[in-house]
Amino acid sequence: MPYSMRYGEGGKLLIGDIRCSCSSRHNEPTQDIYVGGGIIANVPEYIARRDIGKNCVLVADNITWELAGSRVSQSLKEAGYHVTNCVITRPDRMEPDETAVGEVLLSLEPDTEFLVSVGSGSITDTTRVVAKRLEIPQVCIGTAPSMDGYTSSICPLTFRGVKIHRAGKCPEIIVCDTDVMKTAPMDMVCSGVGDVLGKFIAIADWKIGNIINGEVFCPVCGEIVMDALSRLLDNLDEIKARTEKGIRILTEALLLSGMTIMIIGHTRAVASVEHNVAHYWEMMQLLHGKLPPSHGSSVGVATLLVLPVFKTFAEEDLSQIDLEVIKKNRLEREDRVRWMYRAFEKTAAESIMADNEGDFLSWEEQARRVRTAQERFEDIRRVINELPSPEKLESAMRFLGCEMTPADCGVDDKLLNMSMRCAKDYRTRYTLFKLISECGLEDKYLSQYPV
Ligand SMILES: [Zn+2]
Ligand SMILES: [Zn+2]
Repeated sequence: MPYSMRYGEGGKLLIGDIRCSCSSRHNEPTQDIYVGGGIIANVPEYIARRDIGKNCVLVADNITWELAGSRVSQSLKEAGYHVTNCVITRPDRMEPDETAVGEVLLSLEPDTEFLVSVGSGSITDTTRVVAKRLEIPQVCIGTAPSMDGYTSSICPLTFRGVKIHRAGKCPEIIVCDTDVMKTAPMDMVCSGVGDVLGKFIAIADWKIGNIINGEVFCPVCGEIVMDALSRLLDNLDEIKARTEKGIRILTEALLLSGMTIMIIGHTRAVASVEHNVAHYWEMMQLLHGKLPPSHGSSVGVATLLVLPVFKTFAEEDLSQIDLEVIKKNRLEREDRVRWMYRAFEKTAAESIMADNEGDFLSWEEQARRVRTAQERFEDIRRVINELPSPEKLESAMRFLGCEMTPADCGVDDKLLNMSMRCAKDYRTRYTLFKLISECGLEDKYLSQYPV
């Protein structure tokens, strides 16, 4: 293997010896990541090893407080730490929004030296945006293997009802106690599995970006993620039974995919068009005052939707397409802006367009991409053929009891159709969906999603 993965003292997950010839800069993660049964008791010791201070604010919600927060707070106090608890209490699921972030801010003391988050996605993100603004360390105690964001430094938040992304802190210390994680409800486990399965698409899109645009693809990061994916698919029984081994494998898959972000400094290996579809559902549900579906479950369902599009594309005959016809039918800039307003609504459309300036292509660039796709179609086909069959992922998800359809995620046809049509427009990041659109084939491939 061109990298090593092992466990060191105290359950410390060590990834290193990265031997890669790609031109990315590879940073070995400097975070302390611990995975193991019963290790939550070691939190004071883990913190002491890093010498990050004695005064902290511990952030939990009313559920994670009961699950682990009060225990961690108590053990820290016994070890001589000064702990201010910030327990965000909501009648239903908590959102990482301006109110939650405000609660953390107002819990800070003048001498707060670090933050401790006890929870999964929402709590971790709410805490890390504050840690980043203060430039103080964060200790993250994961409570569910439900998403891959523990090791992330970007936080998806909700601001004025709109989904936004802000820079956040990648926690210095991450502790995933499998005894705590295995008590997570099955729907959170399914959510984690969905988030991991989406990586198949992310890796394929990354390789396609390499083929069409010469984007640097890091084979080692690709391998780290693919290894984690195959261990996961080989251990579905253990995951379903939520055994120590099963939960460890799922947790590792989530952490390792996240660690590729630290290694190469971007999220290419972990998120692509399947995440765009899922984000769109979350964003629009929020905007219309509905509780959004869980992140990982939406990613899993979106993966099942986009994977068949990839498989069909492997049978495409690009020699048949006519550049003149594509040129005639392509959207001019004003039409595209109009489409963005229609798809994302005003506030989100404006922020997406501002964040993705390169997204409107000149005709020359579009034509170059189309020609490259024609010339290198065999390479694209090879990438698609490496993807598992939709049936394989479907049966894995069905076996675990995952949400399977947009309807299971509370997504109606109108939202579904729009999400499939604008998935390519959410980010500049290159995807097969962009390629299909640039080749003038969107109506052929997405005809079942009329808008
Ligand atoms: Zn995700
Ligand atoms: Zn590399």
